[in-house]
Amino acid sequence: MSVTISYEELEALLETIFLRHGTRAGVAELLAANCATCERDGALSHGIFRMRGYVDSLATGWVDGSAVPVIEDAAPSFCRVDARNGFAQPALAMARELAMQKARTTGVAVLAIRNSHHLSALWPDVEPFAQDGLIALSVVNSFACTVPFDGTSAVFGTNPIAFAAPVEDADPIVFDLATSAMANGDVQIAARAGKALPPHSGVDSEGQPTIDARAVLDGGALLTFGGYKGSSISMMVELLGAALTGGHFSFEFDWSGHKGAQTPHTGQLILLIDPSYAAGNPFGLRAQTLIATMQAAGVSRLPGQRRAETRALAAQNGIPINAEDLAGLKALAIA
Ligand code: NDP
Repeated sequence: MSVTISYEELEALLETIFLRHGTRAGVAELLAANCATCERDGALSHGIFRMRGYVDSLATGWVDGSAVPVIEDAAPSFCRVDARNGFAQPALAMARELAMQKARTTGVAVLAIRNSHHLSALWPDVEPFAQDGLIALSVVNSFACTVPFDGTSAVFGTNPIAFAAPVEDADPIVFDLATSAMANGDVQIAARAGKALPPHSGVDSEGQPTIDARAVLDGGALLTFGGYKGSSISMMVELLGAALTGGHFSFEFDWSGHKGAQTPHTGQLILLIDPSYAAGNPFGLRAQTLIATMQAAGVSRLPGQRRAETRALAAQNGIPINAEDLAGLKALAIA
């Protein structure tokens, strides 16, 4: 049975869970807002579905929910953050103003977060920058579960890339996609529901193509999207998200001593560009022209549009949530 819950109620409930399970106040608030936002926007692979992963990761001591990130002002356009084995979102929140200041002063800013854990969608990290007039691109690598093109074993994570840009008289244009054929959360959701995966998504433990979600999760691996093209982009995510930040590659950390941990211990890169330094007509107007032309060419769904529509519906009717899932969350809040 489906019930509805307001954004505020859901956020408060999630915050209680985070506080109950070992995060300090500021971290609990940020993660609860992030997770409730994903649920509200219909980004279900990174909404409340992930709460068990957060709680289990905290319980094993794999991630430090009380970590206080340390900012390093490295150069006029480059700042680094050591997340101190905590979550990436508090590191980003702490360095946000400095990174924006650098982008506005020099035209560009690199925010390199390391020693961090990211278990969420990436669009919540970039969309607010575009709402503030900047172009933002972010990558985060995860845990080795994706086979590079032409390879035989998992090296890459599902390695998402997210991009947000301002558009004149409209909401920012945002896309956020895994560079694997599917996000791992969607494979888990398919496995729970006993649903088959689309062809060319993954391989089993023998390296044979499979549409069985369980087989992909139990010793198998995902493939990259778009064959060798997606594989190159995923490789770039490893280089930017790990090599450039000083974080772990997806294959480099060992969480075997923390059974149940689900948060990849890697790095995240955010690149900001201030479009007001660009030549020609203002960027927002150029973006508007491009989007109008795409729509005139028959495009009926822009990236981010489904989320925006789901968000608007939630504002009107509340967030739909399975009654059993809600009961599970309430139990987690007092467990
Ligand atoms: P999807 O394939 O569902 O969507 C990718 C993007 O394409 C979205 O911006 C989506 O917009 C857009 N889109 C989808 N369908 C269409 C369409 N028909 N026409 C136009 N645009 C479309 O996302 P993924 O499954 O690849 O990734 C899901 C999430 O998983 C991401 O948020 C990602 O950040 C997250 N993730 C996180 C990881 C981590 O370690 N933290 C690892 C891997 C993934 P819309 O949102 O409006 O549907």
